[in-house]
Amino acid sequence: MKVNCEGCAGCCIDWRPIAPGTLDHERRGRRDPLDDTYNLVPLTRDEVKAFLNEGLGDVMTPRLFRADEETTSARVDGYDLAALDGRPVFYVGLRKPPKPVGPFGTEPTWLDACTFLDPETLRCRIHDSALYPATCGDYPGQNLTLDQETECERVERAYGGDRLLDADPPEKLRGLALGPQALGAKLFVYPDVDELTGVVERLAAGETTVADRALFVGVAAGSRPGTTAVDAEKAERARGRAQEADSWAGTVIDAWIDRAGRRGSDAGDATERSAFEERRGAPPTSEW
Ligand code: SF4
Ligand code: SF4
Repeated sequence: MKVNCEGCAGCCIDWRPIAPGTLDHERRGRRDPLDDTYNLVPLTRDEVKAFLNEGLGDVMTPRLFRADEETTSARVDGYDLAALDGRPVFYVGLRKPPKPVGPFGTEPTWLDACTFLDPETLRCRIHDSALYPATCGDYPGQNLTLDQETECERVERAYGGDRLLDADPPEKLRGLALGPQALGAKLFVYPDVDELTGVVERLAAGETTVADRALFVGVAAGSRPGTTAVDAEKAERARGRAQEADSWAGTVIDAWIDRAGRRGSDAGDATERSAFEERRGAPPTSEW
């Protein structure tokens, strides 16, 4: 596997507003996400805990799934959610605020982009750190292993250029967890469906609160790998830490939300885009 990522960040940005065609690979009628985020990066339980330990509990957000005819479901706020034994299943991913980004040589546009993406250089601010998610490190290796189309190929189709230079699947993947081994490790189960009243409606509307997101971060951190069990005390401690987190990344998210124009609109007046984040504590990126 070999990729040409310079000037791309297609897998870190929701570029649907500028794509010439429809990008719907996450929403094809089987366990559709309830939220509208594009390419949410699923974190493992250990990664969730690592972000909490670094005071970054405010960068994470949950993903619930709509039930289909084949999955059991739990009904909350009028939504049928994919569930196990009546308890909704979910991932935890990284938040994507609107940022002024110009992927694939385009002019800066307000597009949702990963919290950790430097909007000017299009490099990842945690690439060289212990926090770099396994899913990002693997990408697009998991797709190649599972014979699924990659974001690199979608970018090539839409904007030309060579992105996926070698499509041989890598021998080793760090973050691929499928089936039962994903439970409690990457795919979690929310233990008390009644706590989600109101939360699910806000999640579907893209209007989650700090407290809403912290509920799921807590349960993920308190989950026991390989099971659907949740340690209530650990979950509660982690929920509290997520709710109180006040990181540079959370500050940057709020600042971009305040500043952003309509999604897909021209962001040419947003200058000093790296510095905007670095003045608020974001670490600089390293060269390619
Ligand atoms: S879409 Fe592919 S080429 Fe583009 S940044 Fe992601 S991995 Fe790299
Ligand atoms: S953590 Fe880095 S590589 Fe992963 S989606 Fe965010 S910016 Fe991209």
